[in-house]
Amino acid sequence: MTTFISMCLVVNRVVEAHTTIRTRMPEAGYYLQNISKDNVLRVPTSLPSLCIRKDRSIAEITAIAPNLSGLIVILSSIASKGSVDVLGGSLVKILDGRLLVSLFLDYTDSGLSPEVIEHSLGAMGVVESISVNGALAKGIAVNSHMFPLLMGDKRAIIFAADYFCDMMDHLREKLGPAANTLLYDMGEKYGETFARQTKKETGLSGEEVVKLALAEIQASGWCVSENYQADLGKMFWRVNVKELFECSKRRADEGVNRSHFFRGFLAGLFRVAFGLTSVSCIETLCQANMSDSCEFAIWV
Ligand SMILES: [Zn+2]
Repeated sequence: MTTFISMCLVVNRVVEAHTTIRTRMPEAGYYLQNISKDNVLRVPTSLPSLCIRKDRSIAEITAIAPNLSGLIVILSSIASKGSVDVLGGSLVKILDGRLLVSLFLDYTDSGLSPEVIEHSLGAMGVVESISVNGALAKGIAVNSHMFPLLMGDKRAIIFAADYFCDMMDHLREKLGPAANTLLYDMGEKYGETFARQTKKETGLSGEEVVKLALAEIQASGWCVSENYQADLGKMFWRVNVKELFECSKRRADEGVNRSHFFRGFLAGLFRVAFGLTSVSCIETLCQANMSDSCEFAIWV
């Protein structure tokens, strides 16, 4: 028996992975070319919550299928309409076992209307309901079902990293250097809570909690975990990450290491994961400060 839980369908533009050293020009913004490694595939992934295709005709189509095979028939039917482009979507099991699929379609070149697509798919008789929601504006469609968002079993919210960094900069303008202390404290609290809950839920401790955390924050889009070194005899660790959200964008105060929230997160994480009373953490290298990655030293 096939058991299905949920999935996202994502179609991204192909991003060329350059191996050259990233530019130092402020206007270059983010340095996505910096995250590729020879043996690891990492792909910029768009959550299927919002679809923007300038000047194209797009729509969100939603269907409820009683089982996976009904859903596959619908997907096959869409695929057979060669000029209807599936841009992405989500597939979720509803509580009673039925499946809800939501797809973003680009039908610009098909000659079809959203109503015709809805009618032709509905007429196949393999789904319980189907609806097509037109674009909110030309080329913009929004998923109407994804709420609440969950990371594992915890509710998550999403907003652009730029906004978060702008808020942190605003805090610095208002509070001066005290803002960085505040951000460190906030990160430390989060790291402590993360470690405490992970220990409780998984029964793991020490390094296992740390490694799980470094994997999870990458899956959450915080950064790419590049390297982790531990000297448990001396209780000294190094963590190396790339594209950390606090540091990956060029800023005016060049010459300063940028991470305070994540630095605090690591301190709280290691302290609780290893059951210690006090942990120090400094950022020894910073991607915002002429390094290719951010490196953190943690010690007791
Ligand atoms: Zn940094």
